[in-house]
Amino acid sequence: MTQFVIQPLPAGEVDAGAPTAVRRTAEGGEPCRRCLRRASAGEPLLLLGYDPFVVRSPYAGSGPVFVHERCGDDGTGVEQVRGSVLSVRAYDQDAMLLDAEVMPGEALSDRAAELLDGSAAFLHVHFAGPGCFAFRVDPV
Ligand SMILES: [Zn+2]
Repeated sequence: MTQFVIQPLPAGEVDAGAPTAVRRTAEGGEPCRRCLRRASAGEPLLLLGYDPFVVRSPYAGSGPVFVHERCGDDGTGVEQVRGSVLSVRAYDQDAMLLDAEVMPGEALSDRAAELLDGSAAFLHVHFAGPGCFAFRVDPV
């Protein structure tokens, strides 16, 4: 089974100075895309658009993400996927969509390995409801 690694912010750091970026005070539970931890109530956040593609693709485009204004220690992403419904999109090496599935977060690890064992070059994981980009998954 293919081993994989989770990549937060695969296209590089967010543009905190973007004109559409807004400051928010966390209600608690917002998923930070940089450190992969959930925010605690009261933490300062930025909500802004982010395009996770690193190559040209008709599937590219900016979607909403949260980041802490100042992150602490990095998380693993596990706490963010547990209990979440995810949209997992599998792409080939030219960033063309091969497959898309909605699944519970608990199924991600096994299904990601299966998709990467097949023809997928990488995966993009989104939170299914709001559509926020979560992270990229690459084979090791
Ligand atoms: Zn963070």
